[in-house]
Amino acid sequence: MDNPEKYLTTAGGRITCLRCSAMSKQSRLQCRKPALNLSRTQKCGHHGGKSTGPLTAEGKARIGKAHLLHGEETNQRKLERSEGALKLAQLEDVAHAIGLITTAPRTPGRKPLGYRAIRTLEEAKAWVVEDALQQIKAAPEAE
Ligand SMILES: [Zn+2]
Repeated sequence: MDNPEKYLTTAGGRITCLRCSAMSKQSRLQCRKPALNLSRTQKCGHHGGKSTGPLTAEGKARIGKAHLLHGEETNQRKLERSEGALKLAQLEDVAHAIGLITTAPRTPGRKPLGYRAIRTLEEAKAWVVEDALQQIKAAPEAE
């Protein structure tokens, strides 16, 4: 159901009231309970109609801080994952270029940021040397 019913008729047609606008994710059906009068969001008590949300300025600030968008992953972690995916994609290209993988198809889909296709043996050698140099640079110096 795309457009939720706004009103609900109950008690044998004698009472018409606002209907809860919550939709079931599973069955795609609208909630059949009446919305609470105090509810600004037109929801029944079961679907959050009793909630007032944060009322004080302090509470609003706390909730705003707690509800980070995409808070599960920091930009640093995202960058690390992207670098890992890049290295994996480049290694796959090298394996194809040197003939290590001959039967399996290449991984489909979008390539990671910074990806350069490696098709020849010379490109594969250059990438391996470049990667080794980067690892030496990144490693902390042993004394
Ligand atoms: Zn409901």
